[in-house]
Amino acid sequence: MSDFSMYHALGQASPNPNAPPKQNEAAKFRPPVAASPGGYQQVGSPTYSAPPNQYIGTSGANTQSYGTPAQEQSYFPPQPPLPAANEGNMANLTSQMGGVGLGVDTTGHSKAHKKKDRHAYHNIEGPGGSSQAFNGMPQSGTGNTTQFLNQNGPQTGGAAQWGSPQITPAMSQFPASANPLFSPANPASAMQHAARASTPLTGTPASSSQGRVDPEHIPSIPRSRDVPAKFYMEHVYPTMEQHLPPPATVPFVAFDQGNSSPKFARLTLNNIPASSDALASTSLPLGLILQPLAPLQEGEQPIPVLDFGETGPPRCRRCRAYINPFMTFRSGGNKFVCNMCTFPNDVAPEYFAPTDPSGVRVDRLQRPELTLGTVEFMVPKEYWAKEPVGLRWLFLIDVTAEAVNRGFLDGFCEGIMSALYGSASAEKEGDKQDEASQRKLPPGAKVGIVTFDKEIHFYNLGAGLDQAQMLVVPDIEDPFVPLSEGLFVDPEESKAVITSLLTQLPNMFSEVKNPEPALLPTLNAALSALSATGGKVVCSLTALPTWGPGRLFLRDDGNMQNTDAEKKLLTTEHPGFRKVATKMVESGIGIDFFMAAPSGGYLDIATIGHVSAVTGGETFYYPNFHSPRDTLKLSKEIKHTVTRETGYQALMKVRCSNGLQVSAYHGNFYHHTFGADLEFGVIDADKAIGVMFSYDGKLDPKLDAHFQSALLYTTASGERRVRCSNIVASVSEGAAEAMKFVDQDAVVNIIAKEAAARMAEKSLKDVRGALTEKTVDILAGYRKNFTGNNPPGQLVLPENLKEFSMYILGLIKSRAFKGGKEPTDRRVHDMRMIKAMGSLELSLYLYPRIISIHNLDEKDGFANENGHLQMPEGIRASFSRVEEGGAYIVDNGQVCLLWLHAQVSPNLLEDLFGEGYSSLKQLKAFQSTLPVLDTHLNAQVRNILQYLESTRGSKALTLQLARQGLDGAEYEFARLLYEDRNNEAQSYVDWLVHVHRHIQLELAGQRKKEDSGDGLSATASTFVGLRTPYWG
Ligand SMILES: [Zn+2]
Repeated sequence: MSDFSMYHALGQASPNPNAPPKQNEAAKFRPPVAASPGGYQQVGSPTYSAPPNQYIGTSGANTQSYGTPAQEQSYFPPQPPLPAANEGNMANLTSQMGGVGLGVDTTGHSKAHKKKDRHAYHNIEGPGGSSQAFNGMPQSGTGNTTQFLNQNGPQTGGAAQWGSPQITPAMSQFPASANPLFSPANPASAMQHAARASTPLTGTPASSSQGRVDPEHIPSIPRSRDVPAKFYMEHVYPTMEQHLPPPATVPFVAFDQGNSSPKFARLTLNNIPASSDALASTSLPLGLILQPLAPLQEGEQPIPVLDFGETGPPRCRRCRAYINPFMTFRSGGNKFVCNMCTFPNDVAPEYFAPTDPSGVRVDRLQRPELTLGTVEFMVPKEYWAKEPVGLRWLFLIDVTAEAVNRGFLDGFCEGIMSALYGSASAEKEGDKQDEASQRKLPPGAKVGIVTFDKEIHFYNLGAGLDQAQMLVVPDIEDPFVPLSEGLFVDPEESKAVITSLLTQLPNMFSEVKNPEPALLPTLNAALSALSATGGKVVCSLTALPTWGPGRLFLRDDGNMQNTDAEKKLLTTEHPGFRKVATKMVESGIGIDFFMAAPSGGYLDIATIGHVSAVTGGETFYYPNFHSPRDTLKLSKEIKHTVTRETGYQALMKVRCSNGLQVSAYHGNFYHHTFGADLEFGVIDADKAIGVMFSYDGKLDPKLDAHFQSALLYTTASGERRVRCSNIVASVSEGAAEAMKFVDQDAVVNIIAKEAAARMAEKSLKDVRGALTEKTVDILAGYRKNFTGNNPPGQLVLPENLKEFSMYILGLIKSRAFKGGKEPTDRRVHDMRMIKAMGSLELSLYLYPRIISIHNLDEKDGFANENGHLQMPEGIRASFSRVEEGGAYIVDNGQVCLLWLHAQVSPNLLEDLFGEGYSSLKQLKAFQSTLPVLDTHLNAQVRNILQYLESTRGSKALTLQLARQGLDGAEYEFARLLYEDRNNEAQSYVDWLVHVHRHIQLELAGQRKKEDSGDGLSATASTFVGLRTPYWG
């Protein structure tokens, strides 16, 4: 029996030193907000005075109006809102719904309006205000933003769930429960307390009982992001009192109360069914998404680093779990009982502290390891594989003809300089700053440079030299490292030598121009150079490496879709590359590739990227690199790679309570044998791992389930540490309670990672079929087991999985999994990326953010009275939402398009791009940023872009123009409209109808697994064995 008194209840009697700010301080929390890049001030705005670190404001009086004088905030004349936004879908839907025996309104709509209706949704200032367009949910919680503050639990729908504490009945076990309910901005109301009571589970009907499915009323991802985003702008997320994390795309400040922040760990189910049978009734995976080095945001406490000296952190003698807030003390403080395996350990004398009458250690509040979910331990020599040193960065630079000709070499060298020393303009500003703040790499970190074509060139960068000395290794059959001193140097001490070399490299090799790079020998040379210490390699490549040992050839001739041969193209059996990958991990080395195919050629990313996937690195891929447009992105991404939190020589172990066991890991790492620790050459802030669990017994509903991830790694500054994250979930007998605490982002992420892992063994068609089956299984399981008295023809979606089917449709339409032609380089790149993506980056990848900028509210893109950026609401990814004359930002975390309608207002263009740019044709096709102008709109859009840039994964944000009828990027725009029929798959509405039909068949006992009707899963019969348990 675990009642809360076992755990030293947080803050009984004495205040917690980590207590969150009180109400009046809560407003200080804000999402990352940076100053407007150009320090833009509106001319003639006397009231303007923006505090530093806030978005720049302008006076509303200067707002221009575009187009006809009658309207405001709009660039084109208003059109009357039309009722049927998506007539084609409606008609289609009508017939399909009719097919499943629903009472469907078959009258449809007159086709006479069809053409006009394509741009129908045009409700700028219509009745109901701006929330009208996002009226995605017909049930409770629609639109009314005041509702979500005090409404009750997750079962009520809409936005209601974000404000109230989601506390399970078993929550009384948690340490924090002894506290009065914590809500920093709003003290808990009676409503919030009432919300703790369990209420009958109901779902969201996506179709009304009349059988009409209104495309307006199917669950909206933009809305599911916007509403909580507003809430968490003003509120922190307390990790024990709330047990359903914000959606992954939402910036939030977590307050660690003993349970790890969702930024580090997200469980698919925050309430876990006691038995595998109960879990099976949901068809949901039990899993954990871990992003151990995830970045914190402004307002969050840094992770404490604890030093227990020679003895290291206290650990359970039996299961080796690290000390954490859920371990309990007994016998007056002489014993601690492990929360994973219940073993009673002796407390070492140096760690002893007496307990008070309630069993709480008297020093608990001074001990972060007993109060925080995520801490870091310094570890003694037993944890070392080799003497830890500052991280060594080795840049391998491709200097072959293609790299020189296409400007990639220039861009890469510039990127390294910007990563090490900041951009030229920043340097000027930096005159006033002290050296420490200018330093981009932590003290102790070193850098080395190697270039390669048919030969390998090392450089002595010693600080005493006038210029770098090149040493050529002509023997690529047996490469060696020709120098012991001067290869790795302090980037500050050797700044002159390094910058002069990087500046000269493009010229130096413009005369040589070898066409073929010898990559594998270069990787082996890098391995030798770093094997003693470990480190990180950053390698550029612009052509298929066709020279020397390990040369590759064109494997993908573009004609292997849907064949068994295609599967082989997504993986590699090349012994040389596999071997170098394994050896690198063993030596604590990881590699990031920056690969460009300027002429659109094949690079065999399956083989080359294997080395980064196995070593924990990343592949940045520029499929159609065009230097004027893409150099900025390249440079920013190199800088991000070098400056993001990076550790190396890492091992990871995940432990869980008795009754559960790890059943699978998904991600980019090396796994020797099952049961062994995961090994990473390198690991960085953006990388996530999926862990799946299975039952090896029955859980006790009276106890909680505990999980602990421990990442042993060396920091970039050369300290050996363990980062420990602890996650707790309540347990209940059946699964009904679990359905209320489903984390949609974690479920989608686990399923996506698993699907990516299957690509090597199953055909893409089978994987898509299995994703469809899985979607039907989960939603049918919910309908069968957990819904009440909904009419039989109604599609009922679990409250916390309302957008789930759209995310899975996004996955089916992604480059990794989509049907039809797709170069295998792109498929395999995206597949590996999905395996390592954190929840934020994946969510954006599966459904882009789209913001219309032609009808922004005057205050959008500026700080509100609390200093938080007011963001416009997102719009659905469908062409039916695109307005004539409109301008849209489309960001999926990988690319950011600026789509401009052919009839866009000339005034808008001039406000955005400056005088002289009043037509689409006058714009510079390859510009990747907006100029800094003195217009309201320009400042708004730059601020919005800055917000988007601060809320994403590993890819840099630069603009790419997609002008209607002019730019190739229009195809990418169309591809990203995931609610439409595209990418060889259905529209969102049709997809829901399809899923609904199969749910109905399942309920009627007539579901045939071998026919899901759309050709997606024609071979699903092969998955019968895989359906339960999940994937088999
Ligand atoms: Zn233990």
